[in-house]
Amino acid sequence: MEESIETLAKYPFIPEASEYFKVKTGTGDILLTDFEKPEFEEILSRAEERIREALDREEVSYKSKVYVELLSFPLTLAIVKAVGDSFLSQRYASAEAKRLIKLLQNEKSQTIFLKIANEVLMWKAEYVWQKAPYDYALSIKNYLQIAPIFRDRNWKLINKPVKDGYVYLTRGEFTRLVAEGIKNIIEDELEDRFDGELPGKLGKIVNRIRLLLSEKRPKVEELEEYKGRIILEAFPPCIGAFYQALVNGQHLPHTARFAVTSFLLNIGVDLGDVVKLFTGLPDANERITRYQVEHIAGLRGSKTKYTPPKCETLKTHGLCVEDGKFCRGVKHPLSYYRRSIRRIGRVGEGEKSEVSEEPIQEVL
Ligand code: SF4
Repeated sequence: MEESIETLAKYPFIPEASEYFKVKTGTGDILLTDFEKPEFEEILSRAEERIREALDREEVSYKSKVYVELLSFPLTLAIVKAVGDSFLSQRYASAEAKRLIKLLQNEKSQTIFLKIANEVLMWKAEYVWQKAPYDYALSIKNYLQIAPIFRDRNWKLINKPVKDGYVYLTRGEFTRLVAEGIKNIIEDELEDRFDGELPGKLGKIVNRIRLLLSEKRPKVEELEEYKGRIILEAFPPCIGAFYQALVNGQHLPHTARFAVTSFLLNIGVDLGDVVKLFTGLPDANERITRYQVEHIAGLRGSKTKYTPPKCETLKTHGLCVEDGKFCRGVKHPLSYYRRSIRRIGRVGEGEKSEVSEEPIQEVL
């Protein structure tokens, strides 16, 4: 079904919306350099406003100028990617999820719910008739990919009506799950950072946002207390396996080496410690290894700090563990880690000691 421009403006992540606007690094229908033109001024302003709203109010608003609303979304993603800050990425994804909840609360029909669930999140969801108070049924598998993040006992599968492989949900519950799913998609998308700097006006927005970030960033970030430390329990299965192979001095294919190196650097592990991890390998050459690790850390060559490959790429290389069945639909290893760390961070103080943190110094 062809969607109206109003619908695309409200839900700019649905497939048809990307037909309107393709921002890529120099390819696609509109080039980033086109944004220097005066006709894009309003879209640029709205993109910056979306980010400022996320930082100031933790919620993105909905504005009624539909073209501006629609076109500013992918541009905002490009700007957040260029800023390259995990705190901003998470804050923005969560602020867009709140916008989505408000919009869905005002929807009259169930069509858009099912479209987002089945065509964007690729879930198996149905509208259910005469099953009040329930409105939607979601496959158990999809439910378990999202619901465990919510701490309230009401979300435990055991407390939900289940029939023929489906969990029955009220409209409010389904909205919450859909918003969480979209938040995850946006977070995953933002992990795929931009290489290099954005040109002209976009570059100026990036600089202004960086400045604002320095004021808005919480003094102690949620993940800060774990920064630079290795929390093996929080590692995605693929990275955990690569890491263990290195500790055991086993050979790893190039993509796996790149993935684990960039992963460790991105979670704040000291560069020297990452180099040491490789020196136990039979073919180790410390000078070359250091050069390569520094390159991945963005200290050499193009000065690009690399992030690990997406799950899709790791799957193509046959490096994903059991086709991601333990990963609850994540699309990026760093997203898996952040979600795990958040779960660990939420554990009560008494239980916290059960997490067997392994400081890197002891591992090496
Ligand atoms: S789904 Fe992603 S994070 Fe999980 S094992 Fe596969 S590649 Fe790693």
